[in-house]
Amino acid sequence: MPLLKLKKSMGLLAILLLCTVSACKPSSPSMDAETEAKVKAKLVKADAVDGQVDKIVAKCAGCSLAMDGSEKYTMPLAGYTLHLCSEHCKTNFSKDTAKKLLAIEITE
Ligand SMILES: [Zn+2]
Repeated sequence: MPLLKLKKSMGLLAILLLCTVSACKPSSPSMDAETEAKVKAKLVKADAVDGQVDKIVAKCAGCSLAMDGSEKYTMPLAGYTLHLCSEHCKTNFSKDTAKKLLAIEITE
């Protein structure tokens, strides 16, 4: 009987530990307000690059908007939908989205 009790508390401890660890994970993308404002400003420009202001960035952000994106490879970002050109670009771009997006030079 006491063994059963121990097992139960161990399970609880494991759940608690798991929650703590996942809360500290740096991979959960939480942008600070300044970065988010910059990202949104960049998205407004990136959205206009394809000639349609529709909250869809149709050019591949992974290729600095030089390639056409595809509806097959999309990802959401700050209320916008990004179309990437390939699985490779999508994977790459999703790794450090804000930094990569802000690095794109958009000429008007
Ligand atoms: Zn691309």
